[in-house]
Amino acid sequence: MTTHAQTKTDDRAAGQVLTQRIQDRVDDLTRPSTTREHQPVWNRAKGRFDHRPHVVEHPSLVEQLERAVGGTTGPSNSAGAYESKPAARMDALDALTSMKAEAARVVSYLLREQPRALVPNLQLLAARAHDLDADDLRYVDALVLGWWGRARVTTGWDSPAWRPHVRCMACDRLDSLRVRTEPLVAACLSCGAAWDASNIGILGNHIQIALADPIDQTDTRDAAS
Ligand SMILES: [Zn+2]
Repeated sequence: MTTHAQTKTDDRAAGQVLTQRIQDRVDDLTRPSTTREHQPVWNRAKGRFDHRPHVVEHPSLVEQLERAVGGTTGPSNSAGAYESKPAARMDALDALTSMKAEAARVVSYLLREQPRALVPNLQLLAARAHDLDADDLRYVDALVLGWWGRARVTTGWDSPAWRPHVRCMACDRLDSLRVRTEPLVAACLSCGAAWDASNIGILGNHIQIALADPIDQTDTRDAAS
């Protein structure tokens, strides 16, 4: 009889992990963030570069997608340093469009609420995640991973995501996978499947096998005439 209570406690703990993960990813999607970076500053007296910490502000991922779609990327006087590329723009548009439709759909049929705009829909989903049963919670967690992962690999094309030359494990499309680190995420631009640190091992093995050199048979026999 303690096992039943233990199972319930475990379920609740697992649920809390998912609820928190959903909240964190929705925060990345909907809220601006800051990072602390180090800028090299030339120190004339000492004849060397000093590293001065400074705070960099980043728009939310949704905002970055919207800017990419609109072709405006930051202040107008930034001299076109982030000239939008048509392909990146299409990827951002696809990511935004499918996220909007999917978020509205789950708000309507899981939460039984009237869908609103994308950002309030995402925030509502995160706020109400703890009310969902275990199956629905796992489903929403997977959806949010897909939105967050796809937004992360399609934004920030000043430092493009890694594109392994392999097929997607989910849809078999070649060259559609994108990978970003810190935190680790891979997403397919074709079917929207996504992997995070908890399950990327499967994808990692797949990429490793796909990228491995084909077995070289030329060195076993002489090429003479
Ligand atoms: Zn795919």
